[in-house]
Amino acid sequence: MKEINNAVCTFCGCLCDDIAVVLGDDGGVRVKGACTNGKGHIEGYDAAPVSPMVRGEPVSWDQALDEAAAILGDAESPLIYGLSSTASEAQRRCVALADRIGAAIDTTSSVCHGPTGIAMQNFGEPTCSLGEVLNRADLLLFWGCNPAVAHTRHFTRYSLMPRGRFTPRGRKDRRMILADVRRTPSANAADRFLQVEQGSDYEVLGALRALVQGKRVRADSVGGVPLEELGALAEELGSCRYGAAFFGMGLTMTSGRDLNIGQYFSLVRDLNAHTRFSVVALRGHGNVAGADAVMTWQTGYPFAVSLAGGVPTYGPGEFTAVDMLSRREADAALVVASDPGAHFPAGAVRGLEGIPRVVMDPVVSLTAQDATVYLPTAQYGVDAEGTYYRMDGVPIRTRAFRERLRPTDEEVFDGVLERLHGGRVESTTPIEEVQR
Ligand code: SF4
Repeated sequence: MKEINNAVCTFCGCLCDDIAVVLGDDGGVRVKGACTNGKGHIEGYDAAPVSPMVRGEPVSWDQALDEAAAILGDAESPLIYGLSSTASEAQRRCVALADRIGAAIDTTSSVCHGPTGIAMQNFGEPTCSLGEVLNRADLLLFWGCNPAVAHTRHFTRYSLMPRGRFTPRGRKDRRMILADVRRTPSANAADRFLQVEQGSDYEVLGALRALVQGKRVRADSVGGVPLEELGALAEELGSCRYGAAFFGMGLTMTSGRDLNIGQYFSLVRDLNAHTRFSVVALRGHGNVAGADAVMTWQTGYPFAVSLAGGVPTYGPGEFTAVDMLSRREADAALVVASDPGAHFPAGAVRGLEGIPRVVMDPVVSLTAQDATVYLPTAQYGVDAEGTYYRMDGVPIRTRAFRERLRPTDEEVFDGVLERLHGGRVESTTPIEEVQR
């Protein structure tokens, strides 16, 4: 039996890097210190080598990569989607592959925090690290999110509970406010809960901004919130020592979308006239923040980019995976470490089912089950190492604690690029070497 400390859980954007893993003599894995989601993610992965599949039949890696390269190389309008649960080294190679085949490339951001990226470009993001939140924040504002369920250790590790340099008594030194359309489990932790009418976040944030700026609002209530309550909230936000604002898909994926986020960023900017305030998006997948970053380094845009014309063209609504698949505009797909078959709207799933699709994933997801080519790769943070970006943009090196018997995502990308001759291939461990 062997215990490994400071392993990194790669399941969600918290990227907790204080996990302990006990490796049993029988090869079993027991995780200590992670939440239920993280435990399931690590303990539920079987690192044994698995044969790649082509049309449901097990084949060699060479045959699978030949087939994947043929499908992607022959396509006239290929689509690449996913990338949020793979390492940034692999994301970089994936963009090179998209460039090589003239694909549209989109990440899971397009169905979660894509509007946040758009708002960042239009309004700027006054942000900080989670370490700064832990050490300084005495007021926490959560809007349209449910971290108690979706980011289970956020409260205990980064925001509400931990003792920081200027918050030595932990929870006793902090106030928490939650705004949402309904009471969720996170509301139980809040000192103040603001119930907003469905679809009214933009108006409520606008009224709050006006009050923070000292303006009059001529209404008894806005979006179901009495003006008196909004006034008290504006007062509380403006009088803290250091405020940290968080938000989730209750703001990004409801009516208003990027305009909601623009209001939220602007509220934080307005609050900086009175006190110090920062904002951090609650990102879902382990490396979705890395996907945004790598896409932006490589193409200039965070998601929904077409490389078909030889230069990157940005087009949310045009090159986003759901839209392309619903309109039947893709004739082949590469799905990387994500499961659109389980999560996309029915029309987009039908669009995906109608074209050849290559799926790379450590586990057999719904999308992988009937893929034309399934490529079972290693899982970062278990049997592969790589760089992940935490939700606040801090890079974390994930460590492997098991022997690797499967290729990594970057090795698979390199294998496909090699076959598409002309692709630039950098340092790689040949897949045959991993198999040995
Ligand atoms: S909060 Fe997220 S990163 Fe941390 S242990 Fe849970 S699933 Fe893993």
